[in-house]
Amino acid sequence: MKIVVAVKRVVDYNVKVRAKSDGSGPELANVKMSLNPFDEIAVEEAVRLKEAGDAAEVVVISCGPSSCQETLRTALAMGADRAILVETEKELQPLAVAKLIKAVFEREAADLVILGKQAIDDDCNQTGQMLAALAELPQATFASKVTISREQIDVTREIDGGLEMLSLRLPAVVTTDLRLNEPRYVTLPNIMKAKKKPLEVLTPETLGVDVAPRLKTLRVIDPPKRAAGVKLPDVKALLEKLKSESKVI
Ligand code: AMP
Repeated sequence: MKIVVAVKRVVDYNVKVRAKSDGSGPELANVKMSLNPFDEIAVEEAVRLKEAGDAAEVVVISCGPSSCQETLRTALAMGADRAILVETEKELQPLAVAKLIKAVFEREAADLVILGKQAIDDDCNQTGQMLAALAELPQATFASKVTISREQIDVTREIDGGLEMLSLRLPAVVTTDLRLNEPRYVTLPNIMKAKKKPLEVLTPETLGVDVAPRLKTLRVIDPPKRAAGVKLPDVKALLEKLKSESKVI
């Protein structure tokens, strides 16, 4: 079985993101970038399935500028076998990414695609669902447990107030939730090994995919600043303040 894992290069989750002064988007100059945390979980799951003998090959794919090669190398250091970069400097929206992943998935004749449930930069939570619709594949989103048996994949999903168990026929699309696994740390020897693993570079044009944006971003702004808090001397003062100033909704 071959697994394709989609990985996005995003602003590191420790960075406090600021909007550009002209409101055209987030400030990305000199900002630390990393592998999207949900995609790290996706790579970990695919590598575990391979280690358990349920998968023969793990192929990671990223769409974006050439700097995404660094992100792909991290996924290779975690244990993926090979990487594909669909290189473009153009802005990519979820529909375009879903079309690109579909093209690669079909070219690879893969059995399973694992994506993150969302990219932490745009918080779209759309790409996996769009991919499943475009490729006419069954989908299980927000997976917290995955098991594979022959032509079938069983997925436990976290839903409001409980868990839902689904059984899907392969090929299928799965998106990862936070509790699916705890990704491994990449070790120095594996980083060195990853440098020698194959990384193929394609373009949207060679895949015959039109990535023209369908949405226009009007403005990106920082959230309103929170007013500073006050320190009270004791509990009595706190109770007084709550009594006199708190509002009943
Ligand atoms: P989103 O729909 O943008 O929240 O992204 C959901 C998931 O789609 C991510 O966690 C990734 O697995 C995948 N994805 C989104 N954008 C890209 C990209 N440019 N390259 C590769 N995978 C992506």
